[in-house]
Amino acid sequence: MKTCRTKNEIYLPESAFPRVVVIGGGFAGVSLVKKLKNQPVQVVLLDRNNFHQFQPLLYQVATSGIEPDSIVFPLRKLFKGFGNVYFRMADVQRIVPESRKVLTDIGELAYDYLVIACGSNTNFFGLGDVQRHSVGMKSIQEALDVRSLILQHLEQAVITCDEAQRDALTNFVVVGGGAAGVETAGAIAEFRKYVLPKDYPELDAGMMSVHLIEAGDKLLQSMSGKASREAFACLDQIGVDIKLNTVVRSYDGLHIETDKGAVLKARTVIWTAGVTGNPPVGISAQNVTRQNRILVDEFCRMKGYADIYAIGDVAAMISGEFPFGHPMVAQAAIQQGRLAARNIVSDLQKKPLDAFVYKDKGALATIGKRKAVADLGKFRFSGFFAWMLWSSVHLISISGFRNKLLVGLNWTWSYFTYDKGNRLIIRRYDPAKPESGG
Ligand SMILES: Cc1cc2nc3c(=O)[nH]c(=O)nc-3n(C[C@H](O)[C@H](O)[C@H](O)COP(=O)(O)OP(=O)(O)OC[C@H]3O[C@@H](n4cnc5c(N)ncnc54)[C@H](O)[C@@H]3O)c2cc1C
Repeated sequence: MKTCRTKNEIYLPESAFPRVVVIGGGFAGVSLVKKLKNQPVQVVLLDRNNFHQFQPLLYQVATSGIEPDSIVFPLRKLFKGFGNVYFRMADVQRIVPESRKVLTDIGELAYDYLVIACGSNTNFFGLGDVQRHSVGMKSIQEALDVRSLILQHLEQAVITCDEAQRDALTNFVVVGGGAAGVETAGAIAEFRKYVLPKDYPELDAGMMSVHLIEAGDKLLQSMSGKASREAFACLDQIGVDIKLNTVVRSYDGLHIETDKGAVLKARTVIWTAGVTGNPPVGISAQNVTRQNRILVDEFCRMKGYADIYAIGDVAAMISGEFPFGHPMVAQAAIQQGRLAARNIVSDLQKKPLDAFVYKDKGALATIGKRKAVADLGKFRFSGFFAWMLWSSVHLISISGFRNKLLVGLNWTWSYFTYDKGNRLIIRRYDPAKPESGG
């Protein structure tokens, strides 16, 4: 393939090898690229950010527990020494399967194999006003927005003479009772207990409230009944007001209306209630499921295409066991990335491809300080031991020694001091102008 720059092409060095273009440097894309190291292919990784982010700890950035830098890792550094791998910071705008091209904001790129690993977006279920006024938590930028919002609202609560306004400023609502929602609500409740009295002695800690709203009849739907009950009990104990079987209908920036007719007043609403696939433009509608995920066969190839793979959150491999595709979790993304890399190499060597078999390694969620729940196969743990397990698994999984060290230090510090050291409003966030955040 000709690799020199033409009028609109992104520059890449010449290579005699076929080119694999990968869209997305998340868990799926990174695991695939690692597996393609030194294989007879030229790999081009495209991502709109120049870093990989560790989403499971976004909530800790949002609640001032750890620095943002400790859970993101530069993609160029990650692939230093990978002679056949090139990174280009680019926002992919469209793919053109007919001409085997990817169109981006910095130019276009031809491929021999395309791997789509674009992940997912927050699902607001078509509630435009909720989307406008609440904050999601899918990226490091959004986690920083949440951090700024929490702190800004506390700053405003200190200076207002209007009691109703102070109430709304100190009401924090998390929507979605999955792991992200449970962990966020727990961390805000801990913030109220340990940080508020120190930083905002003028505010009565009793007036700050934390609400967790879940549409289903239990928390942590994807985990065992034991985990779900334990999570409920732990959150209840640290004073989180949990509303199950409650669907949010609207939010105008102040009033949250639910299907129960109840209206809560809060200036901070954090939306973790669902995700939807994030496929690039250019894929025919029949290849996309109702969850906006790309239909793939058992080899991770987009249905009907031998040269396009889709992996991770954006992919749906439908089977009897997984009628909507595999769970949108890091393990599924990592395992699919590895398999797709193997299959691309096998395809080049005209060998048979391997079918994907998901190995469920279990699920963990932390609740407040020093407590967690864990489902590992037949075993169910909760409490301090589960929290130690949760901490170890996350520390091992974070990219880079420096990041592990930073997170480990932050956790040790807060373990002994009950302090959260990153209570900074680096840039003010205005929900009416989301681009102001960060
Ligand atoms: C708050 C939160 C907590 C979570 N906690 C857990 C947990 O505890 N355990 C667990 O297993 N899973 C957890 N998950 C889910 C897990 O993070 C995802 O399943 C996983 O990140 C999916 O990996 P992925 O590679 O498919 O997508 P992602 O990791 O989302 O990566 C997608 C990449 O594609 C890039 N991209 C997207 N569109 C474009 C474009 N058009 N052009 C260029 N680049 C693009 C993005 O910048 C991103 O780097 C959590 C998710 C969230 C949001």
